[in-house]
Amino acid sequence: MMNGKEIAELNAETLGKLKALLEAPKKITVVSHANPDGDAIGSGLGWTRFLEKLGHEVMFVVPNYFPSFLNWMEGIEKVRIFKRDAEAVTPFIAASELVCCLDLNDVKRLEGLSDIIFHSPTPRVLIDHHLSPPDDYALSFSNTTASSTAYLVYKVIEGMGLETEVDRAVAESLLVGITTDTGNFAFGNLTPDLFRVVGSLVDQGVDLPRMNMAVYNNFSENRMRLMGYALDRKMETVPGCDAACIWLDQAELKRYKFEPGDTEGFVNLPLAIGRIGMSALFVETLDCIKVSLRSQGEIDVNLFARKHFNGGGHKNASGGKFFGPMDEALATFRAAVTTEFSA
Ligand code: 5GP
Ligand code: MN
Repeated sequence: MMNGKEIAELNAETLGKLKALLEAPKKITVVSHANPDGDAIGSGLGWTRFLEKLGHEVMFVVPNYFPSFLNWMEGIEKVRIFKRDAEAVTPFIAASELVCCLDLNDVKRLEGLSDIIFHSPTPRVLIDHHLSPPDDYALSFSNTTASSTAYLVYKVIEGMGLETEVDRAVAESLLVGITTDTGNFAFGNLTPDLFRVVGSLVDQGVDLPRMNMAVYNNFSENRMRLMGYALDRKMETVPGCDAACIWLDQAELKRYKFEPGDTEGFVNLPLAIGRIGMSALFVETLDCIKVSLRSQGEIDVNLFARKHFNGGGHKNASGGKFFGPMDEALATFRAAVTTEFSA
């Protein structure tokens, strides 16, 4: 029975050590994963603002571009993109006394940032909810039953007894992470404790309907038409099993004037078909095919991503990469689901 208590149990000693570390003002770098999603940006911005309120000098860096549907968020203009700003941000990272890694399960997902962060003596703190994060951290808050990293960030703040530092902007950032990683409260691990935290965050004066409009109804016309095309022309259900996939190549993305984030959420669409329990999205990028995987119930796409697509993530939401042509990626997928998930 899930009573929400298991998530409340962050290690008190580790919380005490973090609190002690944060007592004196410091230069701090906050990082999150490549192709940042709502939880990566929401947890990162919320944590950054919280640290700034404590008097620290903070830089929030992500490896590459975040989706434009997050442009409305408070403080988003301060997020540094390593791919674009490497020269400007490297000295700050080098001079940092602490690095906080958020929503990060795999150092590879820091891309160009991974060397300067992980080949440095600067202590690292992890706040994350993925399966199998590396243990290369001075302090680690890893909880795989948490539905988002943003929720864990609140739990860490609260665990240090510093929740009075959570203002409206921190609350809104964390709520963006919570809503996007739970599929707007549709996926698993929706504990009573999560709703208690959401209540506290909303209580800071967040306008939830406005936030929902900004997150979910804020796309471009091109993205909407690309979605229609993908569903009508590029979705395949695999015969003999409950799996489906969608794939898009560079020419198609160009035709619809693709911008980063435009395919966000497409992987969930086939799951709306009653009998489909597992779905994949293949998007061709300049250096590989980006693979996204989602499932329902007991189907484990974390294992599937590790085994077939150089990736990982969570049991019901994972991702990875395929290095080869689209045809081969699709053939790998069809063969694997036929073997592993035949109805
Ligand atoms: P998405 O499909 O939204 O990109 O990612 C879904 C989940 O899988 C996220 O939790 C993400 O952290 C994880 N994930 C996505 N891509 C990769 C990858 O290349 N490697 C690993 N290890 N995890 C990934
Ligand atoms: Mn997350």
